[in-house]
Order: sequence, then structure tokens, then C-alpha cells
Amino acid sequence: MKHLIVSLHDFHAGTHEAVREQIDTLTVWGVKNFSILVVPHFHHRKMLKDSAASLAYLGGRHADGDDLVIHGYYHDRVGQGGGSFFWTKLYTANEAEFLDLSDGEARHRLTRALALWEENGWRADGFIAPAWLMPEEQDMLLKRMNFTYTTRLKYWQNLRTLKVTATQSLCYSTRARWRRDASLRWNQWLFARLLKTKDVIRLSLHPRDLQFEPVKLQIRGIVETALTKGYQPITYAGYAKL
Ligand SMILES: [Zn+2]
Repeated sequence: MKHLIVSLHDFHAGTHEAVREQIDTLTVWGVKNFSILVVPHFHHRKMLKDSAASLAYLGGRHADGDDLVIHGYYHDRVGQGGGSFFWTKLYTANEAEFLDLSDGEARHRLTRALALWEENGWRADGFIAPAWLMPEEQDMLLKRMNFTYTTRLKYWQNLRTLKVTATQSLCYSTRARWRRDASLRWNQWLFARLLKTKDVIRLSLHPRDLQFEPVKLQIRGIVETALTKGYQPITYAGYAKL
């Protein structure tokens, strides 16, 4: 069986509408379930727990089978020093919250996120670090905290068995025109390669991706081609149970 996993990054009150529109569009294209990457307190601004509409929306999606993934706590590095210039500024625009957190601080933030999931009756299967960046050792912390999976850009990992499935995610950088052009070329090449070599294709989208017409067109092509070729849509949590 072949699978297509579509994950939607960076859900919070400020992106709620954009993510909802993405879900509506992707549903029309044939994707029924998603892994939604949720940030409890995005950039130290409004807390998700204070946004009743966003909680209700997520609760509804969860009841219909979506996987609500803990995606950091703040998603930024405010108040943290250190980190190399390349990773923190150039590569991630200072978004790599879990890049160099101590185990204690990581556990503290994960515990707060889990409390929010519990309060809302949501199942927490997965953790995915902002920008996919976290120390290797953190896999074991996640395992001890009963997460069933995590992902990096280049692989998916079952935390029960620690088995790694190598399959690089399709992912766009849309901040500038040159980045979009480069992303389109890269993803076209990567998708062709994944179709030839992988049973699991991962498509990771950020809230603004579908707002750029050429990007939207390519993503539609990717989704429709994958479905035509027999890749079944599934969430990361669903994939973990196979
Ligand atoms: Zn993110």
C-alpha cells in the first residue's frame, strides 16, 4: 500500500483562516485527512487556549480523523541565546525553538502542550519540532513521554520501535520570489524521484503556500498525480498504527 501524508504547519489563531482555506481546497482535490501542526503559544502572542473558535475548529477536525501534532510551544527562540548563525538566522529566521533546548526545558514545554491537548480531549500522537530541528537525543525524551512518532525533513520515525522511514518531505519556501522559483524546481525534481522510489510521500505545507498561484498549481498537480497513482491519503498518526 502506498500513502500520501499531507501536513499543515503552524496552526494558531493568526493562521486559523488560512489553514482552514487550505483544508477546504485540498479536500476538493481529494485529500480527506491531515496532520495539523499546532503551536500552543505562537511567538508569545495570543495563546491558543484563549481562542475559542480555533479550539472548536481543531476539535471538529480531530473528531473527523485529523491528527493534531504538537509543533513546539512558542515556535521561536525569544529569550534563548546561542545557536549557530546559520541555523538560527539564515536557515530558519529564528524559528528553531527546540534546536538547543535542555532536556528539562524541552520536557517542561512539552508537558504544557500536552496539558492543552488533554484539556481539550485531543490525542497527542506526534511531536514535530519547528523547522524540524531538534537534538538527536530528544527522540528518547519524546519516546519516554509516550509520543508515537516524530519527523525530520528527511525521515519519519516510529518512536515505539525507533524505526526510521527515509522519505524526504516536499516543502516550499515562499518568502521571496527567488525562493518560490527555486522551490518549484526542487519539488518538481523531488516529487518525480519520490514517485519512482518511495511508498510514502510527505507533503508539508505552510499557511501561505497556496496563496501563490504557481505554487498552488504545482501542489494540485502533486496531489492529483499521487492519488491517481494509488497513494492513499493518511495522517502521520494513522501511518504510525499500520
Ligand atoms: Zn513551523
